[in-house]
Amino acid sequence: MSVTWATIIVAAGSGQRFGSEMLKQYAPLCGKSVLSYSLETFTKYGPVALVVNPAHAPYFPVFASGVSVVEGGATRQESVRNGLAFLSKFAPANVMIHDAARPLVTTDSITRIKTAIEDGQKAATLALPVADTLMRGSETVDRTGVMAVQTPQAFNFSVIAAAHVKAAGKSYTDDASLVRVEMGVDCTFIEGDAENFKITTQSDLKRAEKIMSSQLTETRVGMGYDVHPFGEAPEDGTIKLFGTAIPSDHKLVGHSDADAGLHAIADAILGTIGAGDIGLHFPPSDPQWRGMDSADIVKKSLELLAVKGGSLVNVDCTLLAEMPRIGPHREAISKRLSDILGLPADAIGLKATTTEKLGYIGRGEGLAVQAIVTVRLKR
Ligand code: MG
Repeated sequence: MSVTWATIIVAAGSGQRFGSEMLKQYAPLCGKSVLSYSLETFTKYGPVALVVNPAHAPYFPVFASGVSVVEGGATRQESVRNGLAFLSKFAPANVMIHDAARPLVTTDSITRIKTAIEDGQKAATLALPVADTLMRGSETVDRTGVMAVQTPQAFNFSVIAAAHVKAAGKSYTDDASLVRVEMGVDCTFIEGDAENFKITTQSDLKRAEKIMSSQLTETRVGMGYDVHPFGEAPEDGTIKLFGTAIPSDHKLVGHSDADAGLHAIADAILGTIGAGDIGLHFPPSDPQWRGMDSADIVKKSLELLAVKGGSLVNVDCTLLAEMPRIGPHREAISKRLSDILGLPADAIGLKATTTEKLGYIGRGEGLAVQAIVTVRLKR
């Protein structure tokens, strides 16, 4: 197998200037993590090696398909080397290397840098001329020819791979200078974009939020509804509702784990993008979905939304049931939904009602969940 392009996204850092417990690459930005934007952008061009620090696993978002997680090293240079080693199995002709903390890179910039390499350059980087006056102490620094380097940087794969082998044991801050010193290959500067800035501080994150939300101009609403009947007593005394084990005298009958809560949410998400329902994506007639964890159904629907460039804004659910009682488990459910959906607790509505003993729910034959979601999309 060989591909024309592959990408390394460097996300292993633990930036000290961000000043928050949350790492900047995993910080929420308009309903998704900062990192998710780069992953969605670059998976369009071929396989993506996402280089991470495994200690950051609790922050990992849902990864789009086409993304492989690779363990980072002690330095950025080592992390890139690990990414190159991983991607070699795809035999890519070229590779882009991008910082996870630059979520706003545009397709136009990427096209320009790819074209430079496809036209025969061995190394290219996005960069912008420095506009601000530069001072060192009280001295003005001549800014003629001074460029602020951005990412992605792009390389002929065999050139950058060989450069990293030669650079082992030495220390470089970026790949363009590493390739220049080790291989004598000059880097072509491709004009970048001022909005492709690196999120370093909280105020950078606010600026990115402003830009991003001005692009997500279309709001859509989706609804979902699901019913599962009660069966005999569950072996472990619990059922799954909203991804959470809830004590129950009766199991829920269904093909997967029969989690009506997550099924209703997944259907609501699919509804916002006209992507059918979960029966279409996970047909009950297919034995591979038997007993599956419904959190995976929701993750799949979020992935389809992400492919459309959409962001989940909020979810509101109503459980219709005479039993079980979810009140005592509200906090656990809210925490679990927050993890699955990547939403803050105040964007997750959770309500329960009986049907006053009326109908099949009132007779205790089963339960139902209604869900409604809001998403925002680029238009
Ligand atoms: Mg169902």
